[in-house]
Amino acid sequence: MGKLLEAKNLSIALPEDGGQVILTEGISFDIQKGEVYSLVGESGCGKTITALSLLNVLPTANASMLTGEVLFNDQDLLKLPEKDLCKIRGKDIAVIFQEPSSAMNPLMKVRAQLEECYLLHQLEVNHEAIDLMLKEVGFADPERVLNSYPHELSGGMLQRVMIAMALLLKPKLIIADEPTTALDVTIQAQIMDLLDRLRREHDVSILLITHNLNLVAQYSDRVAVMYAGRMVEEAGVEEFFAKPCHPYSKGLLRALPKMGSAVSTLEPIQGQVPLPKNFVPSCRFADRCSQVVESQCCSAPIAFKEVGPQHKVACVLEQK
Ligand code: SF4
Repeated sequence: MGKLLEAKNLSIALPEDGGQVILTEGISFDIQKGEVYSLVGESGCGKTITALSLLNVLPTANASMLTGEVLFNDQDLLKLPEKDLCKIRGKDIAVIFQEPSSAMNPLMKVRAQLEECYLLHQLEVNHEAIDLMLKEVGFADPERVLNSYPHELSGGMLQRVMIAMALLLKPKLIIADEPTTALDVTIQAQIMDLLDRLRREHDVSILLITHNLNLVAQYSDRVAVMYAGRMVEEAGVEEFFAKPCHPYSKGLLRALPKMGSAVSTLEPIQGQVPLPKNFVPSCRFADRCSQVVESQCCSAPIAFKEVGPQHKVACVLEQK
């Protein structure tokens, strides 16, 4: 495989009241060529902001403080001048957003939006490639799609257009931020199967941001669990589902509905993810954890330690 991208010690903070509020800290991971690497966790854990930070497109770019390194093609993306980073965004690294209807321009026909991918990178528009790509993502009549405005297409069709747009310039990495959240279950499966097939055929890596562990089990090679701005577990996908170690990961898996199970109620993780302004230096899951040992869990930061091949956990229970 070989490493395609490496994020090192990424931290994001926002200035507030003369101080700063930490949103994520010490996030490190790598994505191998051709692999699907998933980031999971509840809403508010920092998954999307971590993904956006890779391309330095944070929602409040002027105010946010981003530190760390993002190594891609032997260069640190966070140190690149904006004009050089623009050449990578949408070309070498493309993004598929969770809500295609709001990611596309409602005033432009699909044709113009696909052509824009070339024009923004000062490339000649390749109409044949656009046609072929639309066929690849499952449109039998590309001409009809090209002549449509976004509101004339269904959510599933729009997500296919987004995938075509992402793949058009042959990126090496696609950041797929909850690509199926806005879709019904049948279309979800079609879109994920399509992404998976295209990944193999085009040799693309995917960073999949999701809270859907079933998608992770089916499509990922490795998975990292985020909680309150930190990574708490990272493992190969088979190892993760067979032997999850962190109490939060175990809770997420217990909360999944099980096919054929006689259990009539799901088992939620009690409590909520803390707000960033309430983040503590020690374990942030402590107030929801049934195995908390106050003296060990609530006094100092917990190291993110290797507990097996390609398996890391941040929990005192795994550090004896
Ligand atoms: S460090 Fe302590 S509180 Fe945190 S997850 Fe592990 S056992 Fe629970």
